Amino acid sequence: MEHVVKILMKEFVTHDTIRFITEKPENYNFLPGQATEVSINQPGWKDKKRPFTFCSKNSDPVLEFTVKIYPHEGVTEQLSRLKPGDELIVRDVWGTINYKGLGVFIAGGAGITPFIAILRDLMDKGQAEGNMLLFANKAWKDIILEREFKEMLGNKAHFILSREEREGYDSGRIDEDYLKRHIKDFNQNFYLCGPTQFIVSVKRALDSLGASPESVVIEV
Ligand SMILES: Cc1cc2nc3c(=O)[nH]c(=O)nc-3n(C[C@H](O)[C@H](O)[C@H](O)COP(=O)(O)OP(=O)(O)OC[C@H]3O[C@@H](n4cnc5c(N)ncnc54)[C@H](O)[C@@H]3O)c2cc1C
Repeated sequence: MEHVVKILMKEFVTHDTIRFITEKPENYNFLPGQATEVSINQPGWKDKKRPFTFCSKNSDPVLEFTVKIYPHEGVTEQLSRLKPGDELIVRDVWGTINYKGLGVFIAGGAGITPFIAILRDLMDKGQAEGNMLLFANKAWKDIILEREFKEMLGNKAHFILSREEREGYDSGRIDEDYLKRHIKDFNQNFYLCGPTQFIVSVKRALDSLGASPESVVIEV
């Protein structure tokens, strides 16, 4: 089912990532980590659907999306041109990631979005403590909502940069070595989201460090 929603607010959260706050359709519900197919309610764009994750909580009266903009003529570039008052179309909700207990969230770039929703929900319930975040980006300027993650998880929020050395931040990639340095117990839940290559290599590293396949939740 399609719902037309107005954009209420738009702001940059990093140099290439925009937060959109939109109206929320009546009786529209989702679980933290779920997504919907979004398109732009303008001629030529209505059928160009792209998946985006809800970053708001289901109980919020509005929807929030955090969208990384790709600078070619695709949907995200067109989204970056929209203003409050313009309309999006949202559809049914779906998604494979959901929280099954304390664990380690491992995200690459815009793959962080389902974890924003899940961790905000856990914060609300007083259950965020004890979870860990390993968040990989190319550079410091690419980190989405760094301050909020630090507030939610304290020193259990780790940021690793692949193309920049910066004091207070890890550098390199999330590989076996990195995981061994940060994680003592591989007998716990792991939540993985990011570009396909990132998921494949982190999953492989987790496997060889002894994480059981049932304990690794992957957003595909
Ligand atoms: C379940 C799910 C949830 C998601 N949630 C989010 C979210 O909350 N936030 C978010 O930001 N993303 C999210 N994504 C990813 C998002 O859907 C894509 O980034 C988006 O569809 C890209 O749309 P586009 O039309 O701008 O790019 P597309 O044209 O669809 O291109 C996608 C990819 O191809 C590359 N590419 C294609 N053509 C060119 C070109 N000419 N030049 C250079 N590069 C090119 C781009 O680099 C990009 O990686 C999610 C994906 C899934 C599967």
